[in-house]
Amino acid sequence: MKYPDVIDEVRRIMWPKPLKLFTAGPVACFPEVLEVMSLQMLSHRSDEYRALHKDTVLRLADFLEAKESTVLLIPASGTGFMEASIRNAVTPGGKVLVTIIGAFGKRYREVVESNGRVPIVLEKPPGEPVLPEELDEALKKNPDVEAVTITYNETSTGVLNPLPELAKVVKEHDKLLFVDAVSAMGAADIKVDEWGIDLVFASSQKAFGVPPGLAMAAVSPAVFEKAEKIPGRGWYFDLLKIKKYLDSQWSTPSTPPIPQIAGLNAVLRIIEKMGGKEAWLRMYAERAEKIRRGVRDLGLELFAREGYYSPTITVVKAPEGVRGVDVYKAMRNRGFEIAKGYGPVKEYTFRIGHMGYITDEDIEELFINLREVIEELKGGK
Ligand code: PMP
Repeated sequence: MKYPDVIDEVRRIMWPKPLKLFTAGPVACFPEVLEVMSLQMLSHRSDEYRALHKDTVLRLADFLEAKESTVLLIPASGTGFMEASIRNAVTPGGKVLVTIIGAFGKRYREVVESNGRVPIVLEKPPGEPVLPEELDEALKKNPDVEAVTITYNETSTGVLNPLPELAKVVKEHDKLLFVDAVSAMGAADIKVDEWGIDLVFASSQKAFGVPPGLAMAAVSPAVFEKAEKIPGRGWYFDLLKIKKYLDSQWSTPSTPPIPQIAGLNAVLRIIEKMGGKEAWLRMYAERAEKIRRGVRDLGLELFAREGYYSPTITVVKAPEGVRGVDVYKAMRNRGFEIAKGYGPVKEYTFRIGHMGYITDEDIEELFINLREVIEELKGGK
């Protein structure tokens, strides 16, 4: 290496001090992922790249139980597919039932509006999920919507929506179903074909523990069929064009984030070596349970409605008289990057992310420090 100093120079900007990440994403990555990502680049039109893309797509399709649907990997963050779902599969001026249980459901509404479609909103108070009977009622009242959007895991409130039950309702009404699984995919189960999901998307920097820059989705034949009839799909997020490149050459229309795809490939192999999807999801469920137990042991309350707890992020009510952001700051001073409260509940909550490369010892240390921080803040120190 001719200029080894630059490594330290950049490191000093990014990492002036060590921090353990309990973030909402980007999250800490497996060492294997980081190492694979530092391999030299290759052309995305080479046979070697195509082999990597194909292997990653097939492994992810397997993980998502998506045989009928097509797995797409594109250079974008998850929001790219949010936009793509609307532009490709809803008629301009057409209606979409947008379910909102927090900040990211609100983003979906904005995406619908800003693309000239009409959102019909079913909104629940923060901390609550959407219930199947509520969705059924909303669809009975609005039979002319073309699609329904659901946030599987609402990162701002720590609520996991009951997706299998909600999907059933959407299918009974014969509507397209778009699922924002940005902070769910990789930690909460997804069975694309069985549940009848038409488009489910996520971002690399969440539960798979890969750096940001890659968006993944599984897209049903119904979406591609509908897209044929939708004008103005644009270029970058044209799902038919993206599928054409996948089908003809196992690649993408524009340059893919090759390191992230290699990183995702490595994680999918780690999952296989851990014993497969079930073992991996169990690891996430147990980690989430451990974190919730830790919070309760401190005498603190969870924000989400019981029974709908997120497997990827725990939102905690700060104790009376303590601001969520002060807990965040004090923990950061002690070397732990948790997440601030988000959206309408940001003042009085803080969040503990469970995603990515986290060890049991990290969790133990987190709670030792959190206990001291809470006591200090309650004491007004
Ligand atoms: N939806 C949810 C539920 C999210 O948590 C996030 C990111 N925090 C997004 C959408 C946006 O994802 P991205 O920044 O990768 O586009």
